[in-house]
Amino acid sequence: MLELHFSIENESELVNAFRLRDQKKLMLPQGLPYPFSVRSYFTWQDPNGIYTYLVFKMPNWDMPRGVTLKRTTTNGEPTGGICNWCHAYGSSDEIGMLSLNLNADTSVGYQICQDLRCIEKIEEASARAGKSPEKPIDQLYQRMARLFENMKQAKAD
Ligand SMILES: [Zn+2]
Repeated sequence: MLELHFSIENESELVNAFRLRDQKKLMLPQGLPYPFSVRSYFTWQDPNGIYTYLVFKMPNWDMPRGVTLKRTTTNGEPTGGICNWCHAYGSSDEIGMLSLNLNADTSVGYQICQDLRCIEKIEEASARAGKSPEKPIDQLYQRMARLFENMKQAKAD
């Protein structure tokens, strides 16, 4: 199983994991105990619940990479649905469309858990089913890695 561990040495390393366009929207959690180590990935939301932040590092990456995802407002009835990353079901409070600006012209949407508790949900569901979480966790990491690769390959503004 792919075990992901990395550490964040200080605030500037955390900030610099994000693109400049994302840094403008960055609201760091208060009182982080630098340096701190991360298992799997590091995520938090801004106090207004508009932005979800994700910091992630595949073993072959030099540095952690971060992304700011924006909650898109839904029109009409709340729907909820299934998370495309962990396959958990949830209400529209839990699962929603989070969008990522690749550049000034292009954005992509991900139907995923708003709070990105995907790994915990996979572990819970696997434990309930008496199955190993190995495969769904590996798939989750691949999906996250693909998001960052898409971002990297996007044309600059
Ligand atoms: Zn999920």
